[in-house]
Amino acid sequence: MRAGLFGGTFNPIHLGHLRAAEEICEALTLDRMVFIPANIPPHKEGHELAAPTVRERCVAAAISENPLFELSRVELDREGPSYSIDTIKHFVAEYSGAELWFIVGEDAFAEIGSWYQFKELFSLVNIAVMSRPPGIKAHILPSIMEEEFFAEEWGYIHSSGNAVRFVSVTPLDISSTAIREAIRAGRSIRYLVPETVREILEKEDHFGPGE
Ligand code: ATP
Ligand code: MG
Repeated sequence: MRAGLFGGTFNPIHLGHLRAAEEICEALTLDRMVFIPANIPPHKEGHELAAPTVRERCVAAAISENPLFELSRVELDREGPSYSIDTIKHFVAEYSGAELWFIVGEDAFAEIGSWYQFKELFSLVNIAVMSRPPGIKAHILPSIMEEEFFAEEWGYIHSSGNAVRFVSVTPLDISSTAIREAIRAGRSIRYLVPETVREILEKEDHFGPGE
């Protein structure tokens, strides 16, 4: 079994997430992709954050048609900040024997050196780094870790044997930030999110006034 673990704030989920997840499934021949909405994202401020139940409902609605996609409540059910390391440890135990891929966009990967216990991530799972507009020139590993990696043409192998693989996906310059801005300004979000998600979001204001 090969599974992708796709964490995010999903505030809200959009077609950029969904298309990238689909292409990662194909590129890595995954049997499933688990979407894991964060309860309390460690790196984001509380303002503009929709309630966990709303973000969860949107993810559930967005993925319902895809047999490979599923939703995990593991971070929603855990109190305190949603650290990826705890989530990964959970799935390493739950899917023991499976090949696990933690999925991050290159913007998130560029910040990974600031994540809680990030060094341990590399020895627990494979990491797939998805391209994302506007695109960054170099795929920079946390510099204090350079000696722990062996460079390959597709990425790196960590001393644990796990891979860090860079995967190009169709560039869709869509972000949750831009969607929240559009909603606030009364502009359309059609074709940026699935219709089922648009219906949930347009019924009431979930994101608050912003900054
Ligand atoms: P925000 O603007 O609020 O930060 P976001 O659009 O970046 O929202 P997140 O929930 O922060 O969405 O992203 C979850 C993960 O999905 C991150 O690893 C991010 O890099 C990746 N991701 C988000 N949008 C895209 C996209 N359009 N293409 C590729 N990867 C994406
Ligand atoms: Mg983001």
